[in-house]
Amino acid sequence: MTLTNQLVWKRHASFLTVAALAAFYYDPVLAAACYILIALTEVLDERLGRESAAWDGVDSSVGDSILRRIGRNTALSATAISIFVISLALQQTSGGHFTPLFFLFSASLFAAMYNSQMMSVLLLRLSIYGVAFLVIAFLDIIRFFPPLDSHVWLDFFTIMLVLYFLADISLKFYQNYQKQLEQLKLIREENERTKAAYEIKSQFLSTVSHELRTPLTSLKASLDLVNKGALGEVPEHLKRAIGIAAKNGETLAVLIDDLLDLQRIEAGEMKFRFKPVNVNDLVTEAVESTADFAAKLGIQVTITPCVEDGRINGDPSRLIQVMNNLLSNALKFSEAGSTVNVRVETLGSRIRVSVEDTGVGIPEGAKERVFGKFTQVDSSDIRKVGGTGLGLNIAKQIVERHDASIDYVSELGVGTTFFLDFDRLEDTQHERGSLQAPAKVA
Ligand code: ADP
Repeated sequence: MTLTNQLVWKRHASFLTVAALAAFYYDPVLAAACYILIALTEVLDERLGRESAAWDGVDSSVGDSILRRIGRNTALSATAISIFVISLALQQTSGGHFTPLFFLFSASLFAAMYNSQMMSVLLLRLSIYGVAFLVIAFLDIIRFFPPLDSHVWLDFFTIMLVLYFLADISLKFYQNYQKQLEQLKLIREENERTKAAYEIKSQFLSTVSHELRTPLTSLKASLDLVNKGALGEVPEHLKRAIGIAAKNGETLAVLIDDLLDLQRIEAGEMKFRFKPVNVNDLVTEAVESTADFAAKLGIQVTITPCVEDGRINGDPSRLIQVMNNLLSNALKFSEAGSTVNVRVETLGSRIRVSVEDTGVGIPEGAKERVFGKFTQVDSSDIRKVGGTGLGLNIAKQIVERHDASIDYVSELGVGTTFFLDFDRLEDTQHERGSLQAPAKVA
């Protein structure tokens, strides 16, 4: 819209300049009349522009009528400009008509530069200008019938040559434009195909994940029963095999849950139940839920709570899922005997939750892989810890749905700190039992 307005003013400014020059050097009345004629066609254009902007794109008969009127207006405006320049040429009795031809040349260039979206309209305009070129070229030949050695013929041939170049440039321009259109069409088709393939892949993944989840759940439950001895004493020689089966069943369940979560998030189907959440409590719950895993790895998890008891607006179960992911990563990538600390602190209107470990660390420049899908920083065969490479991607998407952010700082061999930054809730309202929705701290 701004561009269109700029163009209108640019065009008006050039018409006014030409009219002023014509009025000064030639007949002022004729110049004014021609300018008014051109301005009238501009008014028509302006009205049509407004109507087509208001068109909802549904009623095709309106669209057709707009197209017809664009054609008619173009013909009118190009004819008005051509009459103007021809009138200038008619007032010149000699001199090769440099001024009107150059005006026409500029008008053609202006049209080619700014009106190229509708090729047929551009061609119509250029054809009318072409006729005006020819009229001016033949004007003196018809007026004077000069001998062939006269300069009038030299001017004529020069004009013809310029006209030829103009036609050639226009043709090349047109061909390039067509090629670009063709390429655009190919890109669009390719894009559609990719989208369709992506859609099918998502559906396939979602169906397979759902279908796998149910039998896997019963498989895991049965194995748990066997493991707990609920179906009788497990013979010693089977214990190891059943243990491995249970562990791999668990890994598979995590993968499938991650896949289902990813599908849900991407399809916008993941439900979030937001409510005020006390961050210290949230962190404590997450640490407790990973306590067994930490104990198994021989790692201590400590909490440095926030003194102010900060609150955020969030979905507790989703936030626990994020915290569990950060904690299990911190544990997975740390050595036995080390400590992982979870810190809650307020930073002005924000609350930061950090998970600090002293583990292997993440190399520089790996952020995309860390937060990517199915990507792990150490993908070598000697990788010791398992994982799907989906956890942090899901965590990031969940955090972003909370209008919060997730990031990390890390040093190889020293450790990693992942942190979540949330907007802090003004907790006074809630403490007072207000019925209003909790407001964020400004
Ligand atoms: P995974 O299921 O593999 O843990 P994530 O998406 O949770 O997938 O993590 C992606 C990758 O980021 C991990 O495979 C690991 O390479 C790296 N990473 C994440 N957290 C840590 C951490 N605390 N210390 C070192 N590397 C980490």
